[in-house]
Amino acid sequence: MLIIDGKKVSLDLKNELKASVESCLASTGKVPGLTVIIVGHDPASQVYVRNKAKTCKEIGMISTVIEMAADTTEKHLIDTIHELNNDPAVHGILVQQPLPKQIDEFAVTLAIDPSKDVDGFHPENLGRLVMGHLDKCFVSCTPYGILELLGRYNIETRGKHCVVVGRSNIVGKPMANLMLQKLEATNCTVTICHSATKNIPFYTQQADILIAAIGKAGFITADMVKPGAVVIDVGINRIEDSSTKSGYRLVGDVDYEGVSAVASAMTPVPGGVGPMTIAMLLKNTLQSFQRINGL
Ligand code: NDP
Repeated sequence: MLIIDGKKVSLDLKNELKASVESCLASTGKVPGLTVIIVGHDPASQVYVRNKAKTCKEIGMISTVIEMAADTTEKHLIDTIHELNNDPAVHGILVQQPLPKQIDEFAVTLAIDPSKDVDGFHPENLGRLVMGHLDKCFVSCTPYGILELLGRYNIETRGKHCVVVGRSNIVGKPMANLMLQKLEATNCTVTICHSATKNIPFYTQQADILIAAIGKAGFITADMVKPGAVVIDVGINRIEDSSTKSGYRLVGDVDYEGVSAVASAMTPVPGGVGPMTIAMLLKNTLQSFQRINGL
């Protein structure tokens, strides 16, 4: 079985992005800038934001983190976003989710200028994706990273049956719509499953490409997978493990051991889809800089 190594691909991609940032600097005297806003003190969000800032710096982009108190008002957050929308040194704006209860996440998403929405969550970007205008939108980072992995591993997609389990706005829906597009790297027949789907194995067993974005450890078992399928595991779940220092370990939505005996190719967790997500965020930020500067 082929292990689709997201860690390696993301390193390759970061090296390519670093070279592109250097050529941006050479041709314009400027580099792309990403601003991340974090509201409150959610420990997982703090780790994600730190990693994004660190990777940004590694490839030579400007990274700014704005930290706001947990009791920040929606108005203050949106006013700050409006300032960033008008700041020419900012090419990408990201508001780390989840947000505290007093803030409406959708209102915040709508406040971000779609041309700086490098997370690809704004309805204008999602709408353009659905319409197939991928060169005129930002594709949300996790689905975009999966597309990159499929491409770099030359996984055939045309006419294949892709089954996506999960329909969130940030993973499942953009993923399914991406695989549906009439592009060389997609062009699949797509089925989407979710919590109200009856008999999920009936669908997953027909998948040539199975993408699991559920948030349930080991949900996809070997008996649900067609022999020879390509299996992409988006899930990141913490399970208790007393043999580790932290007392837990990360596993995906796919039972890796069982499914690896059936699948032809598969992403591991960790080291599969996860590392690609930050790399694609930086790719989107570079793309924003290039569009704004007419490169
Ligand atoms: P959400 O919780 O927003 O969505 C989960 C989806 O799975 C929903 O559509 C839900 O259905 C569906 N679902 C839940 N339980 C079942 C079930 N028993 N049977 C069928 N479908 C079910 O999660 P996200 O999409 O944000 O994330 C999914 C997973 O991916 C999580 O583990 C998350 O941590 C991980 N993730 C990983 C990223 C990475 O970079 N690798 C990035 C983003 C997420 P319904 O709509 O009916 O509720």
